[in-house]
Amino acid sequence: MAKNQMRLEKSELVSQLAASVAHEIRNPITVVRGFTQLLASKEYDRDTTMGFYTTMVDELDRAESIIGEYLNIAKPPLGDDETDVDLPVLLKGAVQALKPYALDKNVDLHLTLRAEVMIRGNYSTVLQVMINVIKNAIEACADVDSASVVIELNKVKTNAELKVVDTGSGMSKTTLEKLGQPYYSTKSQGTGLGLTLAYKVIHELGGGIFVDSEEGRGTTFSIVLPLAENALRRTATTGFVHLETDS
Ligand code: ADP
Ligand code: MG
Repeated sequence: MAKNQMRLEKSELVSQLAASVAHEIRNPITVVRGFTQLLASKEYDRDTTMGFYTTMVDELDRAESIIGEYLNIAKPPLGDDETDVDLPVLLKGAVQALKPYALDKNVDLHLTLRAEVMIRGNYSTVLQVMINVIKNAIEACADVDSASVVIELNKVKTNAELKVVDTGSGMSKTTLEKLGQPYYSTKSQGTGLGLTLAYKVIHELGGGIFVDSEEGRGTTFSIVLPLAENALRRTATTGFVHLETDS
């Protein structure tokens, strides 16, 4: 794909995102404004008042996470801030961060490190991507009995392979086709931006994301990234979002 064509697609994604962020932020503002007016209009009992406040805080949190994820997506392509990233260290960090979340949702979270590998990238951005993918896996397991999420790190030829395997709900064909599309979410409190960021970052790093999912059985996300020594020779002509599914 030509370089300028890629740039066009990216700026289109960013302006499309800006438009929908504006739209998405308007909803929480409307809700909070409405409740503020209600509270000002008369005295409510304590339970009702607390209910209003809880909804308002939830809506403000949602607005904040939309803005946070949008800023990550709208960031310019990675460049100067790339370093050698130690994947075992990064994955331990991701698991550490999500242990309480998994515990809360009664999900077994395991890490299997089979290779000592480095990639080129921005540490905190790649960490955010892994957290987004693992968090989805945990959420898919939330309503499934004795479900587990296993994260594996392998070296496959000249690449690092990161697998996130869950025994959760799996995905319908429709969901699989829409993965990565900004704002596509099947969750009541979802932002639908987690995978948009994941696809963008992985492709900028010259890698790929592959998904294998079966409804009622679970999902495997495989992320492939060039090892640090190969990434240094990478050209800037990486393609745009590329997704493979098995179904
Ligand atoms: P969000 O998590 O806010 O909904 P994401 O972009 O992270 O947004 O994910 C988009 C959608 O992809 C989710 O709403 C869910 O339907 C689906 N999804 C992602 N990962 C999984 C998974 N491991 N198992 C089942 N569904 C998933
Ligand atoms: Mg998510």
